[in-house]
Amino acid sequence: MDLLLEKWKEILLGIKQEHMVSDVSFDTWLKDLIPYNVEENKLYILVPPKHDQQMTIDYITRKYKKPFLVAIEEITGEHYDELVFILKEQAQEKFIASFPNKYNEENQSNLNPNYTFDNFVVGKNNSFAHAAALAVAESPGEVYNPLYIHGGPGLGKTHLLQSIGHFILSQKPNKKILYTTSEEFTNEVIDSIRNGNSSSMAKLRNKYRTVDVLMVDDIQFIIGKESTQEEFFHTFNVLHSSGKQIILSSDKPPKDIETLEERIRSRFEWGLLADIGYPDYETRMAILRNKEESNEFHLNDEILDYIASNIKSNVRELEGALNKLLAYSKLQKTEITMDIAVHELQNIISPNKEMEITPQLIIEVVCEHFKLSEVQMLSKKRSSDISKPRQIAMYLIRNLTDTSLKTIGTLLGGRDHTTIIHGIEQIDHEYQTSEIMQNTIETVKKKINPN
Ligand code: ADP
Ligand code: MG
Repeated sequence: MDLLLEKWKEILLGIKQEHMVSDVSFDTWLKDLIPYNVEENKLYILVPPKHDQQMTIDYITRKYKKPFLVAIEEITGEHYDELVFILKEQAQEKFIASFPNKYNEENQSNLNPNYTFDNFVVGKNNSFAHAAALAVAESPGEVYNPLYIHGGPGLGKTHLLQSIGHFILSQKPNKKILYTTSEEFTNEVIDSIRNGNSSSMAKLRNKYRTVDVLMVDDIQFIIGKESTQEEFFHTFNVLHSSGKQIILSSDKPPKDIETLEERIRSRFEWGLLADIGYPDYETRMAILRNKEESNEFHLNDEILDYIASNIKSNVRELEGALNKLLAYSKLQKTEITMDIAVHELQNIISPNKEMEITPQLIIEVVCEHFKLSEVQMLSKKRSSDISKPRQIAMYLIRNLTDTSLKTIGTLLGGRDHTTIIHGIEQIDHEYQTSEIMQNTIETVKKKINPN
């Protein structure tokens, strides 16, 4: 595959010359094709989105498949039994495991640049977890292994994990660091089992068992997934016994995860457990001030106090409140007054509110899960990395709330109800037929409603 990538231009030009392809045909059909993956000696070639139609695929398959196979063999000496042109969406569905996590090639890109120790406010609630994380970052594999950070949603677990990653990379850029979520890990296991060949399993093992630092976020989601637990157990053993650092996060301490296999649970307790609790008032204020500063945005103390006094159990919501006021102030070009704050935050701050599942909550969780902004989610963009999460949002809103199709359309950027029906049916179908989609949906559902 590497050689293929290296010689790709040459191959394309070779075909152009050999088959006397005109410039316009070349530009239309061939220029933007990219080798994507090899499986069982079948080469998959990605057809770019502007050709997003089956017709193109049929046409180039008929016309260019043979020439490609011949040219590739001539130029690289590599023989492929079969060649498949594939659209990005199909490719993602087929090879979803290799998509979200191109970590080794892109190293740091998997880490959110904002999640560093510098941006982490230390308070009583998290000072132990923070110190443990820093110790591990300074001496990976040497002090606490594994480090297991637990705490409720939105309290900074992911932020701390990724801070460790950034820190190690800044000190030792050659270290192989892999940050993943247990959902991604599960999907990769499912995928390699489904492929059923030893090479995809080997690829998975090679990926996870050769790193210096493995971080698995939200490990609680491997519960009940036997093959994933099995794979993780062996991964853990290999890494741990060779002194590689493992860092895990979870919403609960191991002892409270009743259904977790004992052999795995006991390993989680081998190293250090560190919990993050709810931030106290001072820490909440400090987090708000810190966030204000990085956005160059200023609210008066009374408003900060109003937010910090009312949002107590989730830093993400604390930030959400600030972001909402920031957006309002930018959009309306106005200073935020207490009245505006109270009005704008009434959905976030309401007395005795129960955690109600609203379409807005679902959209927020889906965006966070897929690392999209709400602007992207509501946009007209139709590339699959955005449209698939959008369809998942449609599906979940329909299934978890009684919102009408029309309203779902409005909430998701003014789409008409046939688009919504199509989206829901699409995900419904994938849920029935793809274990990966099932896993994704179940994970997102648990994030929406942890109970
Ligand atoms: P978790 O993984 O525990 O659900 P996150 O790490 O995603 O929570 O944190 C939610 C948000 O709150 C993130 O944007 C994170 O940067 C922020 N956050 C959490 N704790 C802190 C903190 N102590 N200092 C600054 N930001 C924080
Ligand atoms: Mg997290």
